[in-house]
Amino acid sequence: MKLERDSLSILKEMLDLLDKGFSNLPDTDSAYDRDAMREVLLEVAERMQDNFPYFNPLYAGQMLKPPHPVARLAYMLSLWINPNNHALDGGRASSAMEKEAVAAIAGLLGWDVHLGHLTSGGTMANLEALWVAGRLKPDLTIVASEQAHYTHGRITDVLGLPFQTVPCDTQSRMDTDALERMLKGGGIGVVVATAGTTGTGAVDPLREILGLRERYGFRLHVDAAYGGYYMLASNLRQETSLSLDCLRDADSVVIDPHKHGLQPYGCGCVLFRDPGVGRLYKHDSPYTYFSTSELHLGEISLECSRPGAAAVALWATQKLFPMKRGGDFAKGLGKCREAAMNLYTWMRDDTRFFTFLEPELDIVVWAPKASRISEMSRRSTRSFEEAASRDLHLALFTYPTRLIGSIPRSIEVDQETLTCLRSCLMKPEHLDWVPRIWQILRTLADTLQ
Ligand SMILES: *Cc1c(COP(=O)(O)O)cnc(C)c1O
Repeated sequence: MKLERDSLSILKEMLDLLDKGFSNLPDTDSAYDRDAMREVLLEVAERMQDNFPYFNPLYAGQMLKPPHPVARLAYMLSLWINPNNHALDGGRASSAMEKEAVAAIAGLLGWDVHLGHLTSGGTMANLEALWVAGRLKPDLTIVASEQAHYTHGRITDVLGLPFQTVPCDTQSRMDTDALERMLKGGGIGVVVATAGTTGTGAVDPLREILGLRERYGFRLHVDAAYGGYYMLASNLRQETSLSLDCLRDADSVVIDPHKHGLQPYGCGCVLFRDPGVGRLYKHDSPYTYFSTSELHLGEISLECSRPGAAAVALWATQKLFPMKRGGDFAKGLGKCREAAMNLYTWMRDDTRFFTFLEPELDIVVWAPKASRISEMSRRSTRSFEEAASRDLHLALFTYPTRLIGSIPRSIEVDQETLTCLRSCLMKPEHLDWVPRIWQILRTLADTLQ
């Protein structure tokens, strides 16, 4: 295959135009030893060959999705300016673009007003949301489901806040009966729901959780780092859509543009429904160059210096692909979902495979069938390696057997966890490629018997 490079000619045009904005400045020399640099950079290109081909549809493993060329080019152009979105003086244009891009994500949630900004990723975005939650609900416990991202346990540890996990049901979602029992016990101030768990893409039942919020009065944060954009898809299960519609009622939401938003890494987003939480960020830094009374993003962000380039890339992407139902971006998500449903259905109907969760988004989990869980786990690991040797890259995932709804009697449950295979079908191209992926998996299943 050939890596995309046609778009590079646009970069030259962009640079010419950018130059025009600074044409009154005297020329300067940017002296560097071109030959020496070239030698190092070619070594870089060679070393970068040691990667899985994340950009190719045969990479169908972890949550890795290539940025769209529009994001790549916008990001690259920004590097000539290298704006810092901490303060307007560090990046006027890119700060304005960040505010617009974040407002568009708030619009996706149906929020007319909000407070929010970009972060280096979902972890920092969740950290800010839980920091705010902890300030508003001092001394109370934060809970998240046992399938929530492990970051919540660590973040609360960093913040010094008490944390507990809520058991999941056999759909891999937060068990709301268990949550209610915990709420009755008292002492819980914040519930973290997940819209699209990292393991299986399960969406916690947000409507029921909102019902509990009315009765128990906790703060609701939704970690939609992975699944948030799926609000736009039109081919989800109805219960999933209903849950995602509830994102608008959360107190804070995290969505990662670097997961499903076509961005390079370094782009998460945290949003608060009540802009009033901005007061908690208040600081009086003697270093920061706040020269105007307009909002500087550094006033509402825990991270200080932040890449303006990330905002520029996201802004350009949203301009080309507005986040509308029925638009190209939404259709791309729909294709990922359809790809996952195809692969899942073929596996479910094939006796060589064991499936236990219908995908809610675009993540499929399964294991090769055998007479014992331990043997199935062993075959998953072997399939993972064998598939890789055929250029098909999958992921492994450890799942508690107690969360599996029904295990046929022919399978002996001889250990507490099942190592399964996991595939995040995050590229719209996966829809055309799943037949080929399925072909490889079937061939493998026969050789592993
Ligand atoms: C990826 C992910 C995170 C962590 O985000 P990073 O961008 O990797 O820091 C948190 N929660 C969920 C649900 C995720 O999928």
